Amino acid sequence: MEPKNRTEAWLADRMYEIWENYFADVPRKNFVLIKFGRSASRQLGSIGWARKNSRIKAFLKKDSIKKTVRSQDDSRITVITITRKFKDPSIPDYVVDATIAHEIAHYVHGFSSPLKRQYHHPHKGGVVRKELTRRGLGDTEKAARGWIRQNWRSYA
Ligand SMILES: [Zn+2]
Repeated sequence: MEPKNRTEAWLADRMYEIWENYFADVPRKNFVLIKFGRSASRQLGSIGWARKNSRIKAFLKKDSIKKTVRSQDDSRITVITITRKFKDPSIPDYVVDATIAHEIAHYVHGFSSPLKRQYHHPHKGGVVRKELTRRGLGDTEKAARGWIRQNWRSYA
């Protein structure tokens, strides 16, 4: 049987797991939505505030989600977008994990999140890589970078 494409439910599970295992000290003060989406070939993930786009609006109409959003300290919604190319199960899980962790690190640093902004620029000084290394994700990040360097051209 062909392996199935990854779903957004799978993606959300990964995010919650990574958050619990490596960012447990970081409060999620608002609702963080993670989804597959379009991205430039060089950009594997991104983080931003929810815009009033129809897809997210429809999603937020679900009662369970409405309740979750209302129960947060901050009613704004953070959206993490992961390249939809990562639906392909031939891309290793650790590559997806490293990309999710990268975006969570931005959240920790106060970019597109209600947390206090810690840096002026999201990447300068290798702050994301340092954050991931400090949290025990250095090897995952390194392996993902190696895999991308060797294989991404055939997907991008
Ligand atoms: Zn980044």
